[in-house]
Amino acid sequence: MSAVKVYVAGHRGMVGSAIARRLAARDGVELVTRTHAELDLTNQVAVRSFMAIERPDVVILAAAKVGGIHANNTYPAEFIYENLMIQGNVIHQAFEAGVRRLLFLGSSCIYPRAATQPMREDALLTGVLEPTNEPYAIAKIAGIKQCESYNRQYGVDYRSVMPTNLFGPGDNFHQKNSHVLPALLRRFHDAARAGDAEVVVWGSGAPRREFLYVDDMAEASLFVMDLPAAAYEASTQPMLSHINVGTGEDISIAELAQAVARITGFNGRIVYDSTKPDGTPRKLMDVSRLAAMGWQARTPFEDALQQTYRWFQENEGRWR
Ligand code: GDP
Repeated sequence: MSAVKVYVAGHRGMVGSAIARRLAARDGVELVTRTHAELDLTNQVAVRSFMAIERPDVVILAAAKVGGIHANNTYPAEFIYENLMIQGNVIHQAFEAGVRRLLFLGSSCIYPRAATQPMREDALLTGVLEPTNEPYAIAKIAGIKQCESYNRQYGVDYRSVMPTNLFGPGDNFHQKNSHVLPALLRRFHDAARAGDAEVVVWGSGAPRREFLYVDDMAEASLFVMDLPAAAYEASTQPMLSHINVGTGEDISIAELAQAVARITGFNGRIVYDSTKPDGTPRKLMDVSRLAAMGWQARTPFEDALQQTYRWFQENEGRWR
């Protein structure tokens, strides 16, 4: 039997690299990747010719422009444009090249700001989005709907997974543009090392977030990709083809800051900067659909935080 050819878009990113590592360890998989320099996914002509030449069997779309609350607020045009172009090109050109199965990675910010918690898949498009990341969320909603539309019109099998806030090795530890967990790991690490008396955390500390380790996300992604079509369809309602991925538990930003202080050995004061935005008050996924299909997150939060901190210490030169 010939190998299944799987193209992972975004294999240098945090999630894409975790998925690519898992796939590379599998028998019967031929992994296809391109760096950003080799293939610009916002370029329609380049993506078309890449797909026509490679003709993968399966596409995993983990390429996206991502960032934390400050980056989303500061570069909204880049977030909506780049994500719409990447998705539009990869999904459509995959279809043109005969790809029958595709997995699209989204985000929990697709749900309304005031969605009932925990957020079920059917909360999509039931209310107004959080303004700090609305352009990104609109792009991700368009990606889900593109997959659904191709399934309906062309009978292909394009699936979508919506992860909660992800973290892990390979994360972005930029001081301003990163997500909260890597941002705090770096800030507390630096403060502990310098012997600073205090660390500033953005916002009120009250927002609640759910954090999923990237290796668990990679496992969940392949779990969903591998499901027989009948099992995936049975788990989704018509016009609702996305599946939440999370741990089902959340913590406040203040609790996160305390956990990061412990792990980095910071003993000073934690102060909150209320001039910075809080964003969505709470983002907790309802993960019962995926649990019913047989998948649950398994890496304990403290272990995952340790692994991530170790990786940062080994790679911190990249951000200095
Ligand atoms: P969000 O989940 O889309 O809101 O994205 P973030 O991960 O960027 O932010 C989550 C929460 O952490 C927000 O309430 C932020 O205000 C808060 N936060 C606290 N300190 C920081 C920080 O240094 N960087 C970031 N990105 N967020 C922070």
